[in-house]
Amino acid sequence: MLRLALSAASPAGARARLTTLIFHRVLSRPDPLFPGEIDAPKFDAICAWLAHWFEVLPLDAAVRRLREGSLPARALAITFDDGYADNHAVALPILKRHGLTATFFVATGYLDGGRMWNDTVIESIRGLSAPTLELDGAVWPLATPADRRQAIDDVLARTKYLEGDQRRRAVERIAALAAGPLPDDLMMTSAQVHDLHRQGMRIGAHTVSHPILARTPLSEARREIDDSRRALQSIVGERIGLFAYPNGKPGRDYAPEHPRLVRDLGFDAAVSTAWGAADRASDLFQLPRFTPWDRTRWRFGLRLLANLRAGSGPTPRTPVLSGA
Ligand SMILES: [Zn+2]
Repeated sequence: MLRLALSAASPAGARARLTTLIFHRVLSRPDPLFPGEIDAPKFDAICAWLAHWFEVLPLDAAVRRLREGSLPARALAITFDDGYADNHAVALPILKRHGLTATFFVATGYLDGGRMWNDTVIESIRGLSAPTLELDGAVWPLATPADRRQAIDDVLARTKYLEGDQRRRAVERIAALAAGPLPDDLMMTSAQVHDLHRQGMRIGAHTVSHPILARTPLSEARREIDDSRRALQSIVGERIGLFAYPNGKPGRDYAPEHPRLVRDLGFDAAVSTAWGAADRASDLFQLPRFTPWDRTRWRFGLRLLANLRAGSGPTPRTPVLSGA
Protein backbone atom coordinates (compact mmCIF):
# COMPACT_ATOMS: atom_id res chain seq x y z
CA MET A 1 0.00 0.00 0.00
CA LEU A 2 2.76 2.41 0.93
CA ARG A 3 4.70 1.20 -2.10
CA LEU A 4 1.81 2.21 -4.37
CA ALA A 5 1.70 5.69 -2.85
CA LEU A 6 5.48 5.98 -3.12
CA SER A 7 5.33 4.91 -6.79
CA ALA A 8 2.76 7.63 -7.50
CA ALA A 9 4.92 10.27 -5.79
CA SER A 10 8.15 8.89 -7.25
CA PRO A 11 7.43 7.41 -10.71
CA ALA A 12 9.98 6.00 -13.17
CA GLY A 13 11.52 7.89 -16.09
CA ALA A 14 11.43 11.57 -16.95
CA ARG A 15 9.20 12.49 -13.99
CA ALA A 16 11.26 10.43 -11.55
CA ARG A 17 12.29 11.66 -8.12
CA LEU A 18 15.39 10.78 -6.17
CA THR A 19 15.14 10.46 -2.41
CA THR A 20 18.56 10.67 -0.73
CA LEU A 21 18.90 9.78 2.94
CA ILE A 22 21.61 11.18 5.21
CA PHE A 23 23.03 9.34 8.20
CA HIS A 24 25.98 10.09 10.47
CA ARG A 25 26.57 7.40 13.06
CA VAL A 26 25.30 3.86 13.61
CA LEU A 27 26.12 3.02 17.23
CA SER A 28 27.06 -0.53 18.18
CA ARG A 29 25.00 -0.14 21.36
CA PRO A 30 22.55 2.52 22.60
CA ASP A 31 24.09 5.66 24.12
CA PRO A 32 22.19 6.97 27.21
CA LEU A 33 23.19 10.52 26.24
CA PHE A 34 21.72 10.12 22.74
CA PRO A 35 18.71 7.81 23.05
CA GLY A 36 17.38 8.90 19.64
CA GLU A 37 20.63 8.09 17.82
CA ILE A 38 20.52 5.20 15.37
CA ASP A 39 22.06 1.99 16.69
CA ALA A 40 22.64 -1.36 15.00
CA PRO A 41 19.14 -2.88 15.52
CA LYS A 42 17.45 0.36 14.44
CA PHE A 43 19.63 0.62 11.34
CA ASP A 44 18.94 -3.02 10.52
CA ALA A 45 15.20 -2.33 10.68
CA ILE A 46 15.51 0.84 8.56
CA CYS A 47 17.53 -1.05 5.90
CA ALA A 48 14.83 -3.75 5.74
CA TRP A 49 12.11 -1.09 5.26
CA LEU A 50 14.13 0.72 2.59
CA ALA A 51 14.88 -2.50 0.69
CA HIS A 52 11.16 -3.34 0.72
CA TRP A 53 9.75 0.08 -0.18
CA PHE A 54 12.41 1.56 -2.46
CA GLU A 55 14.81 0.82 -5.31
CA VAL A 56 18.05 1.60 -3.52
CA LEU A 57 20.80 2.74 -5.91
CA PRO A 58 24.38 3.88 -5.36
CA LEU A 59 24.34 7.70 -5.45
CA ASP A 60 26.68 7.93 -8.48
CA ALA A 61 24.41 5.67 -10.55
CA ALA A 62 21.32 7.50 -9.29
CA VAL A 63 22.77 10.86 -10.36
CA ARG A 64 23.60 9.49 -13.81
CA ARG A 65 20.11 8.08 -14.25
CA LEU A 66 18.46 11.24 -12.90
CA ARG A 67 20.32 13.20 -15.57
CA GLU A 68 19.34 10.69 -18.28
CA GLY A 69 15.71 10.53 -17.15
CA SER A 70 16.01 6.78 -16.58
CA LEU A 71 15.54 6.45 -12.81
CA PRO A 72 13.32 3.61 -11.64
CA ALA A 73 10.21 4.32 -9.58
CA ARG A 74 10.87 4.85 -5.84
CA ALA A 75 14.58 5.58 -6.38
CA LEU A 76 16.55 6.12 -3.20
CA ALA A 77 20.22 6.60 -2.32
CA ILE A 78 21.77 6.15 1.14
CA THR A 79 24.55 8.49 2.29
CA PHE A 80 26.67 8.91 5.42
CA ASP A 81 28.54 12.08 6.38
CA ASP A 82 31.81 12.68 8.25
CA GLY A 83 33.55 9.26 8.27
CA TYR A 84 32.75 7.70 11.66
CA ALA A 85 34.45 4.38 12.38
CA ASP A 86 31.08 2.79 13.19
CA ASN A 87 30.17 3.29 9.53
CA HIS A 88 32.68 0.56 8.72
CA ALA A 89 32.34 -1.57 11.86
CA VAL A 90 28.54 -1.46 12.32
CA ALA A 91 26.76 -0.05 9.23
CA LEU A 92 28.74 -1.88 6.52
CA PRO A 93 27.82 -5.46 7.57
CA ILE A 94 24.15 -4.46 7.92
CA LEU A 95 24.09 -2.77 4.50
CA LYS A 96 25.70 -5.83 2.93
CA ARG A 97 23.24 -8.20 4.58
CA HIS A 98 20.41 -6.26 2.95
CA GLY A 99 22.22 -5.97 -0.39
CA LEU A 100 22.34 -2.16 -0.19
CA THR A 101 25.04 0.23 -1.36
CA ALA A 102 25.72 3.52 0.41
CA THR A 103 27.97 6.52 -0.23
CA PHE A 104 30.25 7.73 2.56
CA PHE A 105 31.31 11.40 2.60
CA VAL A 106 34.56 11.62 4.54
CA ALA A 107 36.21 14.67 6.17
CA THR A 108 39.78 13.55 5.57
CA GLY A 109 41.46 15.65 8.25
CA TYR A 110 40.06 13.40 10.99
CA LEU A 111 41.02 10.02 9.53
CA ASP A 112 43.49 7.85 11.45
CA GLY A 113 42.97 9.05 15.01
CA GLY A 114 41.42 12.50 14.60
CA ARG A 115 38.31 13.80 16.32
CA MET A 116 35.76 16.35 15.15
CA TRP A 117 35.29 19.38 17.44
CA ASN A 118 31.71 18.43 18.30
CA ASP A 119 32.89 15.02 19.52
CA THR A 120 35.54 16.69 21.66
CA VAL A 121 32.73 18.67 23.32
CA ILE A 122 30.50 15.58 23.69
CA GLU A 123 33.21 13.28 25.05
CA SER A 124 34.59 15.95 27.40
CA ILE A 125 31.19 16.65 28.95
CA ARG A 126 30.37 12.93 29.03
CA GLY A 127 33.43 12.32 31.20
CA LEU A 128 33.11 15.27 33.60
CA SER A 129 33.06 14.10 37.21
CA ALA A 130 32.14 17.51 38.72
CA PRO A 131 28.45 17.97 39.68
CA THR A 132 28.17 21.01 37.38
CA LEU A 133 29.75 22.50 34.28
CA GLU A 134 30.61 26.19 34.55
CA LEU A 135 31.47 28.04 31.39
CA ASP A 136 31.42 31.77 30.54
CA GLY A 137 29.21 32.59 33.53
CA ALA A 138 26.66 29.86 32.77
CA VAL A 139 26.17 26.78 34.96
CA TRP A 140 24.74 23.42 33.91
CA PRO A 141 23.87 20.62 36.37
CA LEU A 142 25.28 17.22 35.41
CA ALA A 143 23.25 14.95 37.72
CA THR A 144 21.38 12.90 35.09
CA PRO A 145 22.05 11.84 31.49
CA ALA A 146 19.34 14.35 30.46
CA ASP A 147 21.24 17.15 32.30
CA ARG A 148 24.44 16.18 30.60
CA ARG A 149 22.74 16.06 27.22
CA GLN A 150 21.29 19.54 27.80
CA ALA A 151 24.77 20.87 28.62
CA ILE A 152 26.16 19.24 25.46
CA ASP A 153 23.40 20.65 23.24
CA ASP A 154 23.79 24.15 24.67
CA VAL A 155 27.58 24.17 24.37
CA LEU A 156 27.45 22.81 20.80
CA ALA A 157 24.89 25.47 19.83
CA ARG A 158 27.01 28.25 21.37
CA THR A 159 30.19 27.01 19.71
CA LYS A 160 29.07 25.92 16.25
CA TYR A 161 29.14 29.26 14.45
CA LEU A 162 32.16 30.82 16.20
CA GLU A 163 35.04 31.82 13.92
CA GLY A 164 37.67 29.11 13.42
CA ASP A 165 40.21 30.26 16.04
CA GLN A 166 37.57 31.28 18.55
CA ARG A 167 35.91 27.89 18.21
CA ARG A 168 39.21 26.07 18.60
CA ARG A 169 39.94 27.97 21.82
CA ALA A 170 36.43 27.37 23.19
CA VAL A 171 36.70 23.63 22.48
CA GLU A 172 40.18 23.44 24.03
CA ARG A 173 38.86 25.02 27.23
CA ILE A 174 36.15 22.37 27.49
CA ALA A 175 38.60 19.57 26.67
CA ALA A 176 40.88 20.84 29.45
CA LEU A 177 38.08 20.15 31.96
CA ALA A 178 37.85 16.51 30.85
CA ALA A 179 39.09 14.01 33.39
CA GLY A 180 40.77 11.40 31.22
CA PRO A 181 42.07 11.08 27.68
CA LEU A 182 39.45 11.56 24.95
CA PRO A 183 38.77 8.75 22.43
CA ASP A 184 40.93 8.73 19.30
CA ASP A 185 39.09 5.94 17.47
CA LEU A 186 35.77 7.64 16.66
CA MET A 187 36.65 8.22 13.01
CA MET A 188 37.69 5.72 10.34
CA THR A 189 41.24 4.86 9.48
CA SER A 190 42.40 5.19 5.88
CA ALA A 191 42.39 1.38 5.73
CA GLN A 192 38.70 1.30 6.69
CA VAL A 193 37.83 3.83 3.96
CA HIS A 194 39.79 1.69 1.51
CA ASP A 195 37.91 -1.39 2.67
CA LEU A 196 34.48 0.29 2.34
CA HIS A 197 35.35 1.05 -1.27
CA ARG A 198 36.75 -2.44 -1.87
CA GLN A 199 33.47 -3.88 -0.63
CA GLY A 200 31.49 -1.93 -3.21
CA MET A 201 30.55 1.16 -1.21
CA ARG A 202 31.04 4.63 -2.74
CA ILE A 203 33.28 7.32 -1.24
CA GLY A 204 32.71 11.07 -1.55
CA ALA A 205 34.60 14.20 -0.45
CA HIS A 206 33.45 16.28 2.55
CA THR A 207 36.37 18.76 2.92
CA VAL A 208 39.47 18.25 5.10
CA SER A 209 38.51 19.99 8.37
CA HIS A 210 34.71 20.33 7.98
CA PRO A 211 34.63 24.17 7.98
CA ILE A 212 31.44 26.15 7.46
CA LEU A 213 32.17 27.13 3.87
CA ALA A 214 30.01 30.28 4.02
CA ARG A 215 32.46 31.63 6.63
CA THR A 216 35.64 30.47 4.91
CA PRO A 217 37.63 32.50 2.34
CA LEU A 218 36.93 31.09 -1.12
CA SER A 219 40.56 30.13 -1.78
CA GLU A 220 40.61 28.16 1.46
CA ALA A 221 37.25 26.54 0.65
CA ARG A 222 38.69 25.47 -2.69
CA ARG A 223 41.73 23.96 -1.00
CA GLU A 224 39.57 22.18 1.61
CA ILE A 225 37.38 20.60 -1.07
CA ASP A 226 40.18 19.73 -3.49
CA ASP A 227 42.61 18.39 -0.86
CA SER A 228 39.99 16.08 0.66
CA ARG A 229 39.22 14.76 -2.80
CA ARG A 230 42.90 14.12 -3.59
CA ALA A 231 43.46 12.36 -0.25
CA LEU A 232 40.46 10.08 -0.85
CA GLN A 233 41.49 9.40 -4.44
CA SER A 234 44.87 8.22 -3.23
CA ILE A 235 43.23 6.03 -0.55
CA VAL A 236 40.75 4.31 -2.88
CA GLY A 237 42.80 4.50 -6.09
CA GLU A 238 39.89 5.87 -8.09
CA ARG A 239 38.41 9.19 -9.14
CA ILE A 240 36.08 10.82 -6.57
CA GLY A 241 33.07 12.50 -8.25
CA LEU A 242 30.73 13.30 -5.35
CA PHE A 243 30.85 16.00 -2.66
CA ALA A 244 28.76 16.85 0.43
CA TYR A 245 28.74 20.38 1.92
CA PRO A 246 29.68 20.40 5.64
CA ASN A 247 26.51 21.03 7.69
CA GLY A 248 24.94 21.61 4.30
CA LYS A 249 22.13 24.15 4.71
CA PRO A 250 22.02 26.43 1.62
CA GLY A 251 22.55 30.08 2.50
CA ARG A 252 23.59 29.34 6.08
CA ASP A 253 26.42 26.80 5.68
CA TYR A 254 27.37 27.40 2.06
CA ALA A 255 26.79 30.24 -0.39
CA PRO A 256 25.88 30.30 -4.10
CA GLU A 257 29.57 30.41 -5.10
CA HIS A 258 30.27 27.02 -3.52
CA PRO A 259 28.19 24.86 -5.90
CA ARG A 260 29.92 26.71 -8.75
CA LEU A 261 33.29 25.98 -7.17
CA VAL A 262 32.46 22.28 -6.76
CA ARG A 263 31.34 22.11 -10.38
CA ASP A 264 34.46 23.93 -11.61
CA LEU A 265 36.66 21.49 -9.65
CA GLY A 266 35.20 18.76 -11.86
CA PHE A 267 32.85 16.94 -9.51
CA ASP A 268 29.79 15.20 -11.00
CA ALA A 269 27.32 16.16 -8.26
CA ALA A 270 27.02 17.43 -4.69
CA VAL A 271 24.51 17.00 -1.87
CA SER A 272 23.18 19.52 0.65
CA THR A 273 21.02 19.02 3.74
CA ALA A 274 18.08 20.97 2.36
CA TRP A 275 15.02 18.76 2.67
CA GLY A 276 13.19 17.38 -0.33
CA ALA A 277 13.70 14.97 -3.18
CA ALA A 278 15.45 15.72 -6.47
CA ASP A 279 13.81 15.70 -9.89
CA ARG A 280 15.19 16.24 -13.37
CA ALA A 281 15.07 20.04 -12.92
CA SER A 282 17.12 19.91 -9.72
CA ASP A 283 20.60 21.37 -9.47
CA LEU A 284 22.99 18.39 -9.55
CA PHE A 285 25.35 20.40 -7.34
CA GLN A 286 22.75 20.91 -4.61
CA LEU A 287 20.82 17.66 -4.40
CA PRO A 288 18.55 17.66 -1.33
CA ARG A 289 18.71 15.03 1.41
CA PHE A 290 16.28 14.01 4.07
CA THR A 291 16.09 11.42 6.85
CA PRO A 292 12.96 10.82 8.93
CA TRP A 293 13.54 11.23 12.65
CA ASP A 294 10.77 8.69 13.30
CA ARG A 295 11.83 5.28 14.49
CA THR A 296 8.73 3.20 13.81
CA ARG A 297 8.02 1.55 10.45
CA TRP A 298 4.89 3.44 9.38
CA ARG A 299 5.91 6.83 10.67
CA PHE A 300 9.27 6.45 8.95
CA GLY A 301 7.61 5.45 5.67
CA LEU A 302 4.91 8.12 5.79
CA ARG A 303 7.54 10.77 6.52
CA LEU A 304 9.44 9.74 3.38
CA LEU A 305 6.19 9.90 1.41
CA ALA A 306 5.49 13.39 2.76
CA ASN A 307 9.02 14.46 1.83
CA LEU A 308 8.42 13.26 -1.76
CA ARG A 309 5.08 15.06 -1.94
CA ALA A 310 6.56 18.30 -0.59
CA GLY A 311 8.33 18.94 -3.92
CA SER A 312 11.91 19.50 -4.87
CA GLY A 313 12.18 22.89 -3.20
CA PRO A 314 13.20 26.32 -4.41
CA THR A 315 16.98 25.75 -4.53
CA PRO A 316 18.25 27.76 -7.53
CA ARG A 317 20.22 25.88 -10.15
CA THR A 318 23.95 26.22 -10.67
CA PRO A 319 24.39 27.31 -14.28
CA VAL A 320 26.42 24.76 -16.25
CA LEU A 321 29.16 26.41 -18.27
CA SER A 322 30.43 24.78 -21.42
CA GLY A 323 33.64 22.90 -20.81
CA ALA A 324 33.09 22.90 -17.06
ZN1 LIG B 1 29.51 16.59 8.05
